[in-house]
Amino acid sequence: MSNQSSFPPVYSDPIEKASENLRQVIPLISKHKIPVNPANYAVWYEYVSGENHTLIDEINHRLAQNLPISTDYAQHLFEKYVLMDMPERLESTQNGLKLVVNNTLGNLHKTEADAAHSISELNNTKSLLNNCRDINELHNLVSDILASTQMLTKASNDLKQDLEKSSQEIARLKEELDTVKKESRTDALTGLLNRGAFNEELDIACQQPNTDMALALFDIDHFKKINDTYGHVLGDKVLQYFSGLLQKHAGDHHLVGRYGGEEMAMLLMNISFEEAKSISNNICVALAESRLKKKGQEEYINQITVSAGVSMLQTQDSPSSVTERADKALYQSKNNGRNQVTIL
Ligand code: GH3
Ligand code: MG
Ligand code: MG
Repeated sequence: MSNQSSFPPVYSDPIEKASENLRQVIPLISKHKIPVNPANYAVWYEYVSGENHTLIDEINHRLAQNLPISTDYAQHLFEKYVLMDMPERLESTQNGLKLVVNNTLGNLHKTEADAAHSISELNNTKSLLNNCRDINELHNLVSDILASTQMLTKASNDLKQDLEKSSQEIARLKEELDTVKKESRTDALTGLLNRGAFNEELDIACQQPNTDMALALFDIDHFKKINDTYGHVLGDKVLQYFSGLLQKHAGDHHLVGRYGGEEMAMLLMNISFEEAKSISNNICVALAESRLKKKGQEEYINQITVSAGVSMLQTQDSPSSVTERADKALYQSKNNGRNQVTIL
């Protein structure tokens, strides 16, 4: 399965699925007479994987209009839907910062030149003052001193204003950068952490010794059927609904991520075996008991359930070893009839 909405994208398909995708991608690329370069390959790989719905919709829309998917167009799709415009957005923030720094340096240099000029004028005046005996000359010197100090005051006021403007602009760019950073860690559809960000958190958790943590993996049961029966739009709504449910049960204590299409993960912090079991069970029960309707329709859709696999983090665990156990537990839940939690 490929994981959309993650920057950089994370791919975790097993060899068989990746090989199957390869078999499907090559004919598509040749059909559109474009070279098998990494960008073209990534776009068509995402397409056949079936999970990057916005990319798939745009390609299908274009194909329906008999428009070609050229190398340039595939590059556009790659940047927009695979890289999520991140390089472009980072570059624009970086350029903004460069501009502010250049302006600030320019203003500082100008103030420096103005100050140097005033200093040299004041030095001249100082030496003239030593020999001055004439009232008119003294009057002129006082005027010169006043002019120099006024010029310095103006230069320093200008600099103050310029610096205030620069610092406002820097604060705005910092906010923009924070947004880009947050978005690069967030799954666009569900608002959960994306796989890359979730993995980072799991890495950090595995490096902390002596803390009771658990990893829970959730996979919605027969989700393909939900899409097939009610359409992708409702499928997306179910994913959003379930994500909200997970977040509600996680509260502020635990972290929730979208692991792949209809797979979510929860990192439970400072938790006992019993508590981890109980939270995971509550989530499964809450989804199974939810009664969902299609927008604008009266009747309920069929019951939706989820299977879960939970594993307590053990000393010496690596992110992959704990994930493997949770995955194995999830597999057991599926094999034992779904809509249940297994803990290994
Ligand atoms: P199982 O109970 O064994 O988990 O069966 P399943 O049908 O849930 O599993 P399968 O892996 O066969 O299908 C998952 C489906 O999830 C296929 C894919 O199209 C769909 N899917 C993945 N991401 C999205 C998404 O973002 N939106 C929608 N609507 N569907 C998605
Ligand atoms: Mg699945
Ligand atoms: Mg599933």
